Amino acid sequence: MDFIRYAESAASLLNADIADVDDLIDFLSRREWLHSQTTEKDVAHLRRFADDLRPVFVASGDDDVKTVVAGLNDLLDRHPVTPMISDHDLGNLHLHVANRAASVSELLVSEALLGLATLVCDLGPTRLGVCAASPCTNVYVDTSPNQSRRYCSDRCSSRANVAAYRARKKVASVPLADELPESKAL
Ligand SMILES: [Zn+2]
Ligand SMILES: [Zn+2]
Repeated sequence: MDFIRYAESAASLLNADIADVDDLIDFLSRREWLHSQTTEKDVAHLRRFADDLRPVFVASGDDDVKTVVAGLNDLLDRHPVTPMISDHDLGNLHLHVANRAASVSELLVSEALLGLATLVCDLGPTRLGVCAASPCTNVYVDTSPNQSRRYCSDRCSSRANVAAYRARKKVASVPLADELPESKAL
């Protein structure tokens, strides 16, 4: 797994809003080997972690670099990550998380932090954000070349575009005071 995928799964973890073991198993649908190890404790741990991590996405969206760096460093301090160089693809050596013996939640937390820390160092500290299509509060990782992402999904993006179009139309249909006499004259 490369660091962008780790960072993106950190965003998915926040957006999944995991409430019980079934939700966690759904979240891990492509990692069946972890299913039998998931417990209520993992759920509680991940919920706490999501609450702690959300401010980092908010700060990054606000271009508050200091808070992003301090927030991630604080989380790395509380959840030590053990990286290892993975050689499952010899042509593409990359870092994995080695916290295998730890719990499922500790593994997911470590992957999230390794991904986000690497992303911030490699792509920049303002690549995270919260969806701009309120009331959606989903978070996202912006890997676009010109760093232009503002929405969590295509669905939210088109919903926001429709709302903006309607708002423009509404403004356009209200005549400005000094336009009135002219349009009457016509
Ligand atoms: Zn890999
Ligand atoms: Zn959204």
